[in-house]
Amino acid sequence: MPDTLSTSTVTTTSNLDSLLTEVLEVLLEADELGQLVGPQELAARIPVADADIDAAIARLLGDGTAQLAGDGIALSEAGRERATTAVRRHRLTERLLADVIGLEWWKVHHEAERWDGIMSDDVEARLLDLLGDPGTCPHGNPIPGSANQPSHPDAVRLEDAPSGPVLVVRITETLEGDDEALQLLQNCGFMPGRSCEIKERQDGWVLVAGSVHDAALPPHVAAHTYVAPR
Ligand SMILES: [Zn+2]
Repeated sequence: MPDTLSTSTVTTTSNLDSLLTEVLEVLLEADELGQLVGPQELAARIPVADADIDAAIARLLGDGTAQLAGDGIALSEAGRERATTAVRRHRLTERLLADVIGLEWWKVHHEAERWDGIMSDDVEARLLDLLGDPGTCPHGNPIPGSANQPSHPDAVRLEDAPSGPVLVVRITETLEGDDEALQLLQNCGFMPGRSCEIKERQDGWVLVAGSVHDAALPPHVAAHTYVAPR
């Protein structure tokens, strides 16, 4: 089976705020893992023109959000706080879109990008109340500061998980921008919170029984999806 999904999705980032939020998301994830990210990795993970990535980096370096560290870019102390706020608001917006407005699950990431950078402290506080301080975004990624973050110490990448029943835990940020992959996961019902089953594997592909029907998931989806064996 060919791996056709990896090159087919191009994100159009509509404004600098949403691009900055995406860059901050990647930098925060690296920060939490104690890693550094260079411009090339940012460009590989965020499918926009290199010039746009360079402009976003220049902005973050210029306003003190980030600083150069060796070959990489690291968040400053103030930048870590800014990134945490931006990521929290992005993931709360995704929750609002999915849970209250009823937008289809696979669409909420890109829709939330349009809202990046506009939320006030007041609206964020009301949204936390309205949504009941959710622990994760609809893709299972933790919402910073939530008191309700789930713990799945046994979660593993789908590509490494043993056959048998699993709980789908998380779709990584990398995959959140991949519309085709998300539609595949939604159509078969292999989404965070669902009980599913791993049936068999072939050449990196994983045949799963989703909560809706069976599907063959390609290698890059299996690499960016986390499940907890049941
Ligand atoms: Zn998300």
